[in-house]
Amino acid sequence: MNTFKIGEDTFELAESIKKDLKASKNLGILKCIQCGMCTSVCPAARHTNYDPREIVKRALDNDKNLITDDIIWDCFYCYTCHSVCPVNNSPCEVNQILRQNAIENGVGKPKIAPFSAYGDSFIEFGLGAIPNDFFDDLIKDYGKEWLELKVNLEDIREELGLGPILLPEKDVNDINEILEKTGFKNRLKKIKQCKSEE
Ligand code: SF4
Ligand code: SF4
Repeated sequence: MNTFKIGEDTFELAESIKKDLKASKNLGILKCIQCGMCTSVCPAARHTNYDPREIVKRALDNDKNLITDDIIWDCFYCYTCHSVCPVNNSPCEVNQILRQNAIENGVGKPKIAPFSAYGDSFIEFGLGAIPNDFFDDLIKDYGKEWLELKVNLEDIREELGLGPILLPEKDVNDINEILEKTGFKNRLKKIKQCKSEE
């Protein structure tokens, strides 16, 4: 991954994004024709001021403020823009690289700190589980039926002939080893430190 240094005058933002480890091979950012197809299908653009076409334009204009702009945190990562772009660009991927760099530069950490509980669930269960802190909001959005579904999930699965949702202990241990060796746990620790400094 390229880490863009905030304040440097010389880097070419779009070129750096294209060369980033996280970018798909042949990411078409430099070919963007500003057609706006991405924005026309983007749910974030419908509900917020976020505009994927504009984000790509700002990257092409070498706008260094993009990394520190709160707007990059409004993308949902639904990949709809990715599927419609006529030149194989992916505003979604562009956004992921911008956010990653915001995190590397320290400005993005507070944005992801509330989600560190997802990381804990990978360690505890070996899979991503919705953090308890989000339950109240989810009940507000989906109603009490959602909570009933959560509470009765194991019974429902059994009724449908599905196995238990939790992984066997051995698999959780194997996953923990991967999380340790890949640096996931270390990174999670740093994000949590940032949360406690808020
Ligand atoms: S759909 Fe692709 S080419 Fe069109 S504005 Fe969006 S990123 Fe650019
Ligand atoms: S991935 Fe982000 S930019 Fe692309 S359509 Fe979804 S919300 Fe919009």
